[in-house]
Amino acid sequence: MQKIQKLPNDLINKIAAGEVVERPASIVKELIENSLDAKATQITIILEEGGINRIKIIDNGLGLASDQLPLVFERHATSKINSLQELENNSSLGFRGEALASTASVAKVTFQSFPEGQKSGYQIDHNGEIKPVAITKGTHIEIRDLFYNVPVRKKYLKNTSTEYKYCLKVIQEYALCHPEVAFTLEHNQKEIFSYSSTDRINRITQIHGSDFSSKLLPVFYSGADLKIEGFIGKPELAISKKPTQHFLVNGRPIKTNTFNYSVKQAFGSLIFPQEKPQFFLWLELDPKDVDMNVHPRKIEARFHFEGIIFRKIIRAVKDALQKNDLTKKLNLHKSSAESFIPKPNYSTSKHQSQSISFPSHKSYNIQGSKGSLINYFNQNHSQNRPTQSLSDQTQKPTLMPLVQIENSYILCQSPSALVIIDQHAAHERVLYEKFKAEANSQEPRSQELLTPIQIQLSSTQIETLKHSTETFQKIGFNISVIGENQIAVTSIPLKFSNNDLDTVIQSLLNDIEDNSDFQNLSDIEDIVINYAACRGAIKFGQPLTKDEMIALIQEMEKIQHKQYSCPHGRPSKIEITFQDLEKQFKRTK
Ligand code: ADP
Ligand code: MG
Repeated sequence: MQKIQKLPNDLINKIAAGEVVERPASIVKELIENSLDAKATQITIILEEGGINRIKIIDNGLGLASDQLPLVFERHATSKINSLQELENNSSLGFRGEALASTASVAKVTFQSFPEGQKSGYQIDHNGEIKPVAITKGTHIEIRDLFYNVPVRKKYLKNTSTEYKYCLKVIQEYALCHPEVAFTLEHNQKEIFSYSSTDRINRITQIHGSDFSSKLLPVFYSGADLKIEGFIGKPELAISKKPTQHFLVNGRPIKTNTFNYSVKQAFGSLIFPQEKPQFFLWLELDPKDVDMNVHPRKIEARFHFEGIIFRKIIRAVKDALQKNDLTKKLNLHKSSAESFIPKPNYSTSKHQSQSISFPSHKSYNIQGSKGSLINYFNQNHSQNRPTQSLSDQTQKPTLMPLVQIENSYILCQSPSALVIIDQHAAHERVLYEKFKAEANSQEPRSQELLTPIQIQLSSTQIETLKHSTETFQKIGFNISVIGENQIAVTSIPLKFSNNDLDTVIQSLLNDIEDNSDFQNLSDIEDIVINYAACRGAIKFGQPLTKDEMIALIQEMEKIQHKQYSCPHGRPSKIEITFQDLEKQFKRTK
């Protein structure tokens, strides 16, 4: 016969510790939260052997009175909440009253505290003995010999350097959440860092360095129930592996793939599909709209209005991207010293007038394997080019094209920099935006072919086509299936060349088929538009006239922030500031 019995307290605590205390980093996290809840403004963390041998935290917070000490290692004993209502509206980081109890059941803990209004500090050790102690105001907690009494758990710990890295990650996350608090870390008797109290951007700089933080853009959204503030990396900071992505919700770092994805969505085609943006976003919302009580270590949360927050994040990030210059800056020089040489006398009004003095109709042939390396607008071209002529212009570009290099790059001058445009990438983006707008306008501009083009397809390709005919139609293709393996194309998007149409259609269908992720209409539409834009864009190596360069720049400027990259996420223009040139030519320090 089975017999049910109540487990002894000590065993209950050890079982609970399995959830709360996974490794030294989980203890460090709980201790920092306690110090923050105690309103500390200075927190020092001392680790030995990745925290396995010793973790000590010293804070200058409110402390705990000596008569409260017998309760600190008691399970479900907390000073932070009293009722369910308080739990729901709780804004402190801790509330379960189990971190110290769990830790004390698997390690040797000493808790010392010296609160305001008491004559001296007192400590309670892991045997429960209470005695006075000479310490500074605040709380000192020391944890030794983690898992000394549960060897199975100790076996699962990684080596000290990995455990140290986990601790470091946690400490830096909380340091980011609370830049107003000074944090110091010591490991194996060596000071690792000492961050002074500061603001958010400076805390990011303390952690990631100024090269990184200089590539961040501010994000701001403020509504009645939600505030989003922080920084996103410019598209050039996006990476595919291990991006820095922080959501700091009501003072606590939260893991949320959903919101990470919302930021990626906002970047859209500004970055490569496999890349992930880097960001630091602080979210503030009413505590009752977020449930922190869904994970034993409170590293995940449940949001009551997840869909709304998701959309607000997209809006806030898009706004930040639209407001800012995303041009990739060529980092020629690392020094941040300000130039003391006056700026070149670049007159904006002069370059905005029609009397730009282009070195017209002149060709320099610098010999090289490709023949004419520099082309000074001396050629005639007819197809696939930005068509606006100089005389049409009613809004004038802020960039002045100087020269086309290798028939591929347009060198321009802006009031503060030399700008190099990748003509294919730039035009590809212009066409992509144009085709997308046409697809959305419900009026695809297509050209009817004089004679329909018949194309043979495999049965799988025919199947894919049947599922995507509507999309093809939306952007101006008219295609019908006329036999088991045969289709007829009767019209194609305007500006789309019908050369190799069979290859284009087949590649498109293969692309759609390969991307099983691309289930919905808008994804398929995107592939088709991408393809059309890529094929329609002026080619790398194609000479351009002066007017065509100007027209391209004008069209780029019309699409605002989208101009900075091609639809696949490659940069379409980069710039070298005059300040950087001055440094390179040693005209300034
Ligand atoms: P919780 O944080 O959920 O209340 P803990 O086990 O982490 O539970 O802590 C138990 C109690 O010990 C806290 O409620 C608080 O009163 C006290 N305490 C812990 N750390 C500190 C500290 N650094 N400063 C002051 N009081 C503390
Ligand atoms: Mg706590």
